[in-house]
Amino acid sequence: MERREVIDLFGEVPKHQQRQPKLVRMHVVETGDDCGYYPVGVPAAVRFACRQCSEVTDWMFVMATTAKRGIPCPKCNGEKS
Ligand SMILES: [Zn+2]
Repeated sequence: MERREVIDLFGEVPKHQQRQPKLVRMHVVETGDDCGYYPVGVPAAVRFACRQCSEVTDWMFVMATTAKRGIPCPKCNGEKS
């Protein structure tokens, strides 16, 4: 029986380079006033929906950047961790 030795060329990945687990985000499905138009610096009334669990939030006021980025789904991210 030949015993093979595994050579690790790259060593352990440093902690700051390790991948974060993918965050499931909810995206905007409905906006309050002008659909799809987010004025800068003014909170917009939006509703978010998750594409994986199809959970829909209540109306909430968020900034345009938050609306475009999406918010983490509490249901999907809660189940995994
Ligand atoms: Zn979800």
